[in-house]
Amino acid sequence: MALYYNKTDRSRVRRHSRRGAYSRATVHAILDEGFVGHVAFCVDGQPYAIPMLYARDGEQLFLHGSPLSRMLQGLADGVPVCFTVTLVDGLVLARSAFHHSVNYRSVVALGEASAVRYPAEKHAALRAIVDHVATGRSEDVRGPSAGELKATEVVRLPLREVSAKVRTGPPVDAKADYALPAWAGEVPLVLAAGAPIPDDRCAAALPDYVANYSRARA
Ligand SMILES: Cc1cc2nc3c(=O)[nH]c(=O)nc-3n(C[C@H](O)[C@H](O)[C@H](O)COP(=O)(O)OP(=O)(O)OC[C@H]3O[C@@H](n4cnc5c(N)ncnc54)[C@H](O)[C@@H]3O)c2cc1C
Repeated sequence: MALYYNKTDRSRVRRHSRRGAYSRATVHAILDEGFVGHVAFCVDGQPYAIPMLYARDGEQLFLHGSPLSRMLQGLADGVPVCFTVTLVDGLVLARSAFHHSVNYRSVVALGEASAVRYPAEKHAALRAIVDHVATGRSEDVRGPSAGELKATEVVRLPLREVSAKVRTGPPVDAKADYALPAWAGEVPLVLAAGAPIPDDRCAAALPDYVANYSRARA
């Protein structure tokens, strides 16, 4: 398999094109660190962008939800979608309002989703989503019953037309503005887990993946 996604006319990053990245490794790393994406699609000419959990399995993403959801119904029917994931790494405060920015890593994937129908495949996809949110979690919990499986729509989105965009580093100010007295620099932002709060009726010991929860990936 090629190391890079094909750059298409639709997926080529245009503004600050050097920040565009098409390597599978970069795209996968962003998708694996994130766990909430936004699925955009059109119904009757009206665009929607809906937040969802997801998991990556090789070159496909899995999404799940109620079959009653208009979005999942549409996705299962193969409507064109745009799926985005954004990791915000910091604020970039420049000396002018104009040059303020954000350090980030983001992915945009274009394509068509399709329904995952076979129970074994559905099962595996749901395990992947649970484990993507908390690694190892699916081993510890009851899996879906036949009824629960039926009541859950699962769709796959193949990763074909995909781009990443990554900004790092300090502000880039206009030459003359470096003499201004305003503070300038970066404010790093991280997603950090707070102390776990056990449910009142939970007698189980705290698993490591909860005690040491982190989205950082090696
Ligand atoms: C972080 C996060 C993760 C989520 N993960 C999942 C997931 O994995 N699976 C899943 O099924 N759902 C998930 N949801 C909920 C999801 O965003 C939708 O609310 C749900 O899938 C569809 O609900 P519906 O059938 O009412 O929506 P639809 O019929 O798709 O939408 C009806 C209308 O409800 C409103 N609406 C729907 N969702 C939202 C929302 N989240 N915020 C504000 N307005 C909304 C919009 O106006 C929309 O047009 C997640 C939400 C969040 C915030």
